[in-house]
Amino acid sequence: MKPIIFCDFDGTITNSDNIIAIMKEFAPEGWESIKDDVLSQKVSISEGVGKMFSLLDSGLAQDIIEFVKSSAVIRDGFREFVAFARQNSIPLYVVSGGIDFFIEPLLENILDLDLLYCNKAVFEQERIQIIWPYSCDDQCQNGCGCCKPSIMRKISEADTYKIVIGDSITDFKAAKEADFVLARDFLIEKCREEGISYQPFQTFFDCINILKLKLEAA
Ligand code: MG
Ligand code: ZN
Repeated sequence: MKPIIFCDFDGTITNSDNIIAIMKEFAPEGWESIKDDVLSQKVSISEGVGKMFSLLDSGLAQDIIEFVKSSAVIRDGFREFVAFARQNSIPLYVVSGGIDFFIEPLLENILDLDLLYCNKAVFEQERIQIIWPYSCDDQCQNGCGCCKPSIMRKISEADTYKIVIGDSITDFKAAKEADFVLARDFLIEKCREEGISYQPFQTFFDCINILKLKLEAA
């Protein structure tokens, strides 16, 4: 079995969700009802995220990047985790429903950006537009935006041992298709509810220790 890691970004690699932080800081009133519609699954993730960013002027791009760079915190042990994966020749992909313009500045000194799958922002019109290079394949009708299970299907081969690391409902479909799940926060509850086996983690040092034992056992 060949392990491949698929790791979420917001709330997993960073300590909290950057889209929510950006909206709290920059969006006019009204973004919360869109967020609530996404969480209650009244609208798809892609529709909701597209709508939220369409509240923001394209001219805010640089301010948003600076804001995220100064406020986002990378979870402890992530750099070491990237090194651990490299040393063990385990491909580590970051698969995120976030947007390139704020993820790339945070990851560029840590990870090869070719390993990042996420949505993209365009600043050519008055308001920020989001485009979806990795939308759902024909096996997913979820309107994911960046479709984690579709990316996993594309990258994985028959002998791939799929490891998913995540924190929320947006990782649940990926977790369902994983061979092994490292979970925190809401994803723990969701895995429990649905009987998906998982190991909880707080920092990426935990992830290293857990995966070391897994690899030794294999
Ligand atoms: Mg997340
Ligand atoms: Zn999908």
